[in-house]
Amino acid sequence: RFVTVEGTEGVGKSTNIAVIKEWLNERSIPFVATREPGGTPLAESLRELLLANRDESVDATAELLMVFAARAQHLNTLIKPHLDAGTWVLSDRFTDATYAYQGCGRGLDLALISQLEVLVQKTLRPDITVYLDVDVKVGLARAAARGELDRFEKEDVDFFERVRKGYLARVSQDPERYLVVNAGQELPAVKRDLLAALDCAFPQ
Ligand code: C5P
Repeated sequence: RFVTVEGTEGVGKSTNIAVIKEWLNERSIPFVATREPGGTPLAESLRELLLANRDESVDATAELLMVFAARAQHLNTLIKPHLDAGTWVLSDRFTDATYAYQGCGRGLDLALISQLEVLVQKTLRPDITVYLDVDVKVGLARAAARGELDRFEKEDVDFFERVRKGYLARVSQDPERYLVVNAGQELPAVKRDLLAALDCAFPQ
């Protein structure tokens, strides 16, 4: 099984990924945990390049191609071999992030992203995507409180509002694939909802 985790800034992805890992371990399910952009040496290098050059206002199309270049390497050298061997793959972000960030956030054509998705992934899609949903301002305030953001401005709020709308649109187009968790709640409630959703999606 291929499980991905998505959400905007400050949504608690790392904490909830730890919960999913615990759930997998309790069931003795063999899995690898990985992330995007990244997951292999080449893809991690591309991630570093992307993050290091943010202040340069990276061209949106260049960013899109780098994200998909990293994904092609990640998919063919890590994700697919594990899935073929029967190992579950748990990825912190995948192509939904590209639709949300590069598509809705940066304004690139979603049809173009879809073409690249077919080029790189053919028919491979995640089996289940956990989408952690939180009010954008709440998420940004949490990220700022953790020191992950120096400050945020109106344009950041507007950007992440578009990203969140992008995610919610993806969810509504294919609701079967997504486990939507209200990540605006207190942590124990988020954990409870996430575990309940996993138990429903993968009954023992
Ligand atoms: O997942 P994580 O938050 O670690 O991602 C690192 C950064 O890359 C984040 O700021 C995220 O917004 C950004 N990102 C992006 N486009 C993607 C995936 C991640 O801009 N497709």
